[in-house]
Parts: sequence; C-alpha cells; structure tokens
Amino acid sequence: MAKTVNARAGVKARLSGRPALGKSTAKAATPAREKAVPPGKAKAATAKAGKAPAKAVPPAKAMAATAKAGKAPAKAVPAKGKAKATLAAQAKADVEKAARRGVHEPKHRTAKAGDEKARIRAIIDGLEELYPDAHCELDFETPFQLLVATILSAQCTDVRVNMVTPALFARFPDAEAMSQATQPELEALIRTTGFFRNKAKSILGASRLLMEDHGGVVPDDMEQLLELPGVARKTANVILGSAFGKNEGLAVDTHVARLSGRLGLSRETDPKKIETDLLEKLPRDKWTHIGHQIIWHGRRVCEARKPRCHECRLAPYCPSAGVAGG
Ligand code: SF4
Repeated sequence: MAKTVNARAGVKARLSGRPALGKSTAKAATPAREKAVPPGKAKAATAKAGKAPAKAVPPAKAMAATAKAGKAPAKAVPAKGKAKATLAAQAKADVEKAARRGVHEPKHRTAKAGDEKARIRAIIDGLEELYPDAHCELDFETPFQLLVATILSAQCTDVRVNMVTPALFARFPDAEAMSQATQPELEALIRTTGFFRNKAKSILGASRLLMEDHGGVVPDDMEQLLELPGVARKTANVILGSAFGKNEGLAVDTHVARLSGRLGLSRETDPKKIETDLLEKLPRDKWTHIGHQIIWHGRRVCEARKPRCHECRLAPYCPSAGVAGG
C-alpha cells in the first residue's frame, strides 16, 4: 500500500506543471519563450513610450511565427498528417535513447486536455503494438467454465487455476453437474487455489442458482450476473467481455489497478472508481481488449516490485517511468 501511495504521489507531482507532449515540442517552446517579452513588462514599456505593445506577443503565437519563418527546429512543427504515422517511430527512438541513458526521464508533465488525449492515444497504440492478441489467460470452453475459473482466480494466479480446472471440469463440466457436487469433493479439487472453502461455496451456490433461475445457462447480463454468489463486478466484467464479447465495463484486477495509477489513467485506489476513470478515457469498443493488454503488460513488463521501465515501450508516455516500484 505504501508503494501505491508513493507511486500515486509521484504521478501527482509529475502531472503538475509539465511541458507539452513530446520532446520536440518541449524543445521548440524554449527559443520562442526566450524571445517573447513578458506581457507585464511590455505593457509597462508601451504605456511609457505611447506605442502599441508590439513585443508582447503571446508565446504560442511567437512560436508559430518563428516556425513559419523557418527558424523553429524541424521537429517543432511536424508535417500535417505525419504525426500519427511517425508516432511509433518516435516512441521507438525515445525508448532507445532512454535505454542508452540507462533510465527513463519522465517527459510528459502536461495536464492540457489535448495533450492528455494524445498521450492516452499513444498508450493505446503502444499496447496494441505490444499485445495485439492479448486475451484472457484462464482456460475455458464455456461461459460457465469461465465463471468458475474466474471465481477460482481470486488471490491466485491464472497459471495455478489452469492447473486445477482440467480435472475439475472433467468431473463437473457444467452447471447441472456442478450443482450436484458436494462441498468436500469440490474443496478437494480446488484446494491449491487458496481460500478453497469460500470458493467451493461460491461455485456451488452459483451453480445451483443458475439451475434454479436460468436453466443452467450463464446470463449475459450484468445485473443477473451480480446476483450469483461469488460474482462481483470484476468477475461479471470478465464473463461479459471474454465469454460474450460484450463491452459493459472493464475488469479491474491488481494489474489494472497498479498500471492505471502508474500510467496516469486514474488517481483512484477503489476498483470501481478506477473503472469509472478508465471507461471515461478509453474507447468502449476496446474496453475488454485494453483490459487484457494492461494485464499482459503488468505481468510481463510493469511488474509490481520491479517495473522494467528501461525496456518499456510505454515509457515515453508514462509519468512513472523510472520512478515506479522500488
Ligand atoms: S514499466 Fe515503467 S514506464 Fe512502463 S508502464 Fe510501468 S512504470 Fe511506466
């Protein structure tokens, strides 16, 4: 928890007073600001001389004028339409450059709405480049099996769950068979996933309710799913997204919670509030897919204790690059 708080504090500090997105933009802004006369001084001088405030040009305008006159660095004004095309190349160059330095320096300190959208877009593109085939790593063949596997995955790794479910589903493949299992025999089959008594109780309760109210079929409806024992919003999102292909929400597990903070996508710690932030910022048709991509990145690169920022594709867009973990 202390690390989460530290990471969040770091993110908060970095999000304030940041230069505009992109190293090139930050570089370009410097000469323009140097030439611009502070408005207050220009106004005073003008009043004294009785002249129009010719030098009190807003920095943004001054920068545009300089660029027009060919004085700005080439990178400051990318050719129209090329920005998106060069994003991946720029990101790659940024990562390589940072890797040569041995550590990533946070570059994006802006809170401007436009820049923030571009930053999030870059994160989405980066995740897609890294994990185009990201998917749920629990093994299942039916929505019911995913329901059971997801209940078992609480406080347990997917790898461990996948070791347990073949024997479990061979013995109890569907809700009808599972509803007739006894608590002791179910506990024996799932013991190694931890918290096995509560999990067995939830699985039996959910199976029996499915038989009583839904003919043994897992509903593809959030409210009905939430009525099942052992099913909270995260599990319901997993089932809706991965078993039914419905983007009703985004499952916030430990990886999604951690990376949402590190990537500056949410400052919340409560999963429901994190999900609300993510749903606002990410495109709906990709909620489930991005959720898997974030989990994959959390398992492979942005690990809890030792995030590998020096080799992270998202580092140029991550406010926690080089300072997360520890
Ligand atoms: S590994 Fe580092 S740079 Fe990459 S997302 Fe995690 S904290 Fe950010």
